[in-house]
Amino acid sequence: MSYQYNFSAGPAMLPKEVMLKAQHEFLNLNSTGISVMEMSHRSKEYLPIVDKAETNLRTILNIPNNYKVLFLQGGAITQNFMVPMNLLNNLSASYVVSGYWSNRSYKDAQPFGAIKLAASSESSNFKKIPNVDSWSFDKDDAYVHFCQNETIHGAEYFDSIKLPKVPLVCDMSSTILSRPINVNDYGVIYAGAQKNIGPSGLTIVIVREDLLTYADKKTPSTFNWKIQSENNSMINTPSTFSIYMAGLVFEWILKLGGLEEMEKLNKKKSKYLYDYIDEDDFYTNDIEIKNRSRMNIPFKLANDDLTKIFVEKAEQEGLYALKGHRLVGGLRASLYNAMPFDGVECLVEFMKDFKKYNT
Ligand SMILES: *Cc1c(COP(=O)(O)O)cnc(C)c1O
Repeated sequence: MSYQYNFSAGPAMLPKEVMLKAQHEFLNLNSTGISVMEMSHRSKEYLPIVDKAETNLRTILNIPNNYKVLFLQGGAITQNFMVPMNLLNNLSASYVVSGYWSNRSYKDAQPFGAIKLAASSESSNFKKIPNVDSWSFDKDDAYVHFCQNETIHGAEYFDSIKLPKVPLVCDMSSTILSRPINVNDYGVIYAGAQKNIGPSGLTIVIVREDLLTYADKKTPSTFNWKIQSENNSMINTPSTFSIYMAGLVFEWILKLGGLEEMEKLNKKKSKYLYDYIDEDDFYTNDIEIKNRSRMNIPFKLANDDLTKIFVEKAEQEGLYALKGHRLVGGLRASLYNAMPFDGVECLVEFMKDFKKYNT
């Protein structure tokens, strides 16, 4: 089966232009005669690639100088324990639970100390997210953790959240680079790369410098943000190819006009799909309207027996990975930066036809 549009939640599609550039350079990077995959991470050929990737990421997100950028491994899930190891400092921390991923962060942190629940929307089956006003935390907490976008449930925080005194730690795996943010509002931002940045195997951590002094003494060097930061994220071999690919994606974003442009396009794409879903009851999305995710749009068919057929037919039409996550069922379309508007139009056309033949 040859697919035309890829709606995978992650690893997700990458911009065609980036893939073609990588293909072109694959066997011979910058006339070196070797592939980026075959270079020492400390070589004079490779180091400029990391430097440029970091510089471009700093430009795109407008990252202030007092923040370090780390290129790590282990995925966002590894940050679930690295965050408490590096920040807890024998204090307490509060976690906002707004869906599967933030709940997993909350659970994974438990063994490390006094981990409290700041707020939870579980009673609504995560159809809502806890309003920032309802978060309860202590001014002596080492940090407050939340997830900006629940990739499975499809609920996103759009508020710009500022917590006086307590560092805010945010899992941005599925929203990073989808719109401008104010990095200054956060103590730590982390994201697995495979949604909106590049291939899997790379985890980006952006951490405010003054938070690098609290790591538990038993923290192994590869998990220690401060040691990684002092070693240019190379206390061991980093994920060189993924960093290279992320660098190409950063260039692509800059060329298109940065995050303002990404946000415009992402608003347009998601609105187009939500507007169609809302036309009648054949398809539904029941997330509270103001928190509907722009990146991951779960939806259901009124007649769930048709779900399997929808997925099969969509695949035959070249639309890949529309099956919902097994935890929530139904369908899901992920519309990350790399998804062109044409892809969403094509999906909506397919949905219209599917409705016509099934009503
Ligand atoms: C995908 C995802 C994760 C898990 O990331 P891994 O890289 O597989 O560890 C965590 N949080 C969010 C919000 C995600 O979307």
